[in-house]
Amino acid sequence: MARDYYATLGVAREATPEQIKRAYRKLARELHPDVNPDEAAQERFREVTTAYEVLSDPKKRQVVDLGGDPLSNGGGAGGGMGDPFAGFGGLGDIMDAFFGGGAAGGGGRGPRSRVQPGSDALLRLELTLEDCASGVNRDITVDTAVLCDSCDGGGSRVGSAPSTCDTCGGRGEVQSVQRSFLGQVMTSRPCPVCRGFGEVITDPCQQCGGDGRVRARRTITVKIPAGVGDGMRVRLAGEGEVGPGGGPAGDLFVEVEELPHERR
Ligand SMILES: [Zn+2]
Ligand SMILES: [Zn+2]
Repeated sequence: MARDYYATLGVAREATPEQIKRAYRKLARELHPDVNPDEAAQERFREVTTAYEVLSDPKKRQVVDLGGDPLSNGGGAGGGMGDPFAGFGGLGDIMDAFFGGGAAGGGGRGPRSRVQPGSDALLRLELTLEDCASGVNRDITVDTAVLCDSCDGGGSRVGSAPSTCDTCGGRGEVQSVQRSFLGQVMTSRPCPVCRGFGEVITDPCQQCGGDGRVRARRTITVKIPAGVGDGMRVRLAGEGEVGPGGGPAGDLFVEVEELPHERR
């Protein structure tokens, strides 16, 4: 089960970013190790900080609101350009102001979320010098993963729901004891049956096969501003790939390729 980050911070699900920031500041003042060396307070401080990291990041918050847990991702995204989850953005300002950096990112145990953020996509667009200079609107055809409208990203056939994985009991990982020359070593690894999700889709959606997204081709208009040059990129927020389980889409980048000078 996903942790309830909203409850941890004591804010409503519809709280504004400003309210979330205020709630975190207040708790951080009470719980910071310099003020409150008590062990329970420190544990709580870590939880509160983690919750703030998640809820102050619009993409991670979106994953939470879709029923997922952005911190329990076990990788496997693949493809695309940068990982939007690399590094905690936005936290630095608060942490630096309060404590001089060094935020602890408490990793979570438990099953990883099926809902993952999508990758960015990149497309090249050839433009003449004239178009580059004056700016232009172009219709482009993009081929990306979009939300499966049959299951709304859930991956199960309409009317059915995933069931708890029998092999791992929903924990998403299995443990085994291995003998080595050091003695017995307990190791845990992602459950091979549910791939770490803790649940299995018993009756997959026919349209997407359980992935929660399908590939689709669509045409969008991209507005190239005046004065672009070869290699410059225009970013279209949220027009990239939808993530597994219907996770929030990445961005689409359109890279300008300037054609050698000639009349069109
Ligand atoms: Zn589907
Ligand atoms: Zn399992």
